[in-house]
Amino acid sequence: MTEAARNFIAGEWIAAAEVHPDVNPSNTNDVVGQFPRATAADTERAIEAARAAFPKWSRTTPQERYEILKKISDEILARKDELGRILSREEGKTLPEGVGETVRAGQIFAFFAGECLRLGGEAIPSVRPGVGVEVTREPIGVVGMITPWNFPIAIPAWKIAPALAYGNCIVFKPAELVPATAHALAEIIVRSGIPAGVFNLVQGRGSVVGETILRSPKIDAVTFTGSVPTGRKVAQAAIESTPMKKIQLEMGGKNPLVILDDADLKVAVECAVNGAFFSTGQRCTASSRLIVTERIHDRFLDAMSERLRGLVVDDALKAGTHIGPVVDEGQLEQDMKYVAIGKDEGARLVLGGERLNRESPGFYMAPALFADVDNSMRIAREEIFGPVATVIRAKGYDEALAIANDTEFGLSSGICTTSLKYAQHFKRNAEAGMVMVNLPTAGVDYHVPFGGRKGSSYGPREQGAYAREFYTTVKTAYSFSDVDPPRPAASE
Ligand code: ADP
Repeated sequence: MTEAARNFIAGEWIAAAEVHPDVNPSNTNDVVGQFPRATAADTERAIEAARAAFPKWSRTTPQERYEILKKISDEILARKDELGRILSREEGKTLPEGVGETVRAGQIFAFFAGECLRLGGEAIPSVRPGVGVEVTREPIGVVGMITPWNFPIAIPAWKIAPALAYGNCIVFKPAELVPATAHALAEIIVRSGIPAGVFNLVQGRGSVVGETILRSPKIDAVTFTGSVPTGRKVAQAAIESTPMKKIQLEMGGKNPLVILDDADLKVAVECAVNGAFFSTGQRCTASSRLIVTERIHDRFLDAMSERLRGLVVDDALKAGTHIGPVVDEGQLEQDMKYVAIGKDEGARLVLGGERLNRESPGFYMAPALFADVDNSMRIAREEIFGPVATVIRAKGYDEALAIANDTEFGLSSGICTTSLKYAQHFKRNAEAGMVMVNLPTAGVDYHVPFGGRKGSSYGPREQGAYAREFYTTVKTAYSFSDVDPPRPAASE
């Protein structure tokens, strides 16, 4: 890309007054492109355009919306390798992870293409004679979308696809670190033949574009994925605006993976390595607390260390890389800061935790494993969002479950065990929105609900048919019709 990318507002590609470079975290000499920083006025125009497009778009037939979503899905899937490469180049997850995420986005659009045709209502007999009740769903209106950098195509897909499927208009503000993927996705959406104004891409700063979305009385709902402090701002702005906005927040995690004495050691190590370190640990569902019971503890630690020593940390686009770089300098500093905090708190750094040099200048870090961690330590309580995992020893299942639940978060919670009894008990008692048995805490299906409890999430679930709870509003319609009037008497 030689000239700067543009935003897509009111059916047109609009150049921004200011642009910024998108830098490859595997090689900081590689600039992916120049991307726009929109102003508040650009954002307002996008919101106006979405409002203007809503009456017509909300009345399109399911077939019209199906065709648009199907086209988007088809193009994403047909170009998965190219799009996955852009994603890995700017975000730093490995190429197979980038392509995998792109395929996921294509599948999500296909799923919601089908959802266009499945949306129905209910007819319920009234308690009153002659009255009928219908319960239907209508789109909510203009949805503001604020997304993070760690899933540059899947998260936008799981917000954009249901919003369109159920007849809403969109103002999409992606994270500044991943503008190229957002731009490529927007081009595909535009090529699908979507009417002007229905979908708007506004790239820019959270404090400018994001804040304008939050403050606008013309935005009906905001779906947000990101940090807890920003999530709180979204919620505060939503209740302060008139009318108040509907909100959906997906925020942090401090996800536990419990490993019991009876676990299959190989399965446990694979779940832990995948959950804690793949995608450089930059997943809100990452397993950052490995809670291990007494008799398997030392064996697990040895096997884990050996497995980690065999992992290749290198350029995300290189074949054979298992773990790509951290997303940027700021995040790497945060990860290193937590390694220092862990050591100060008295945890034992088993391996990793240092900055690495590779052929190209990038933000490389050796995956860090801490043992002898107490659940009260900061490294066990605060979300680090990097390749850092803690091992916490537990006496037995009961203590492990108590530690697993002793957190302000509640997104995903896992257990490795061969005992049906413990697996069943854990599924019922883990205080999390998602529970995994003999699976990593990260890695979910796209056709079922995604979301958490406690400090992790707020508002209705994302993904699958449950997404309709956020992207539609319910209408209850009553009608009276005197279908069975009293007959006139025969003599009259
Ligand atoms: P992360 O740590 O993942 O970057 P953030 O919560 O900072 O988490 O960012 C998630 C998204 O929220 C990004 O798109 C970012 O630009 C946006 N954002 C950041 N600050 C604000 C804000 N004050 N208002 C609205 N959006 C914001």
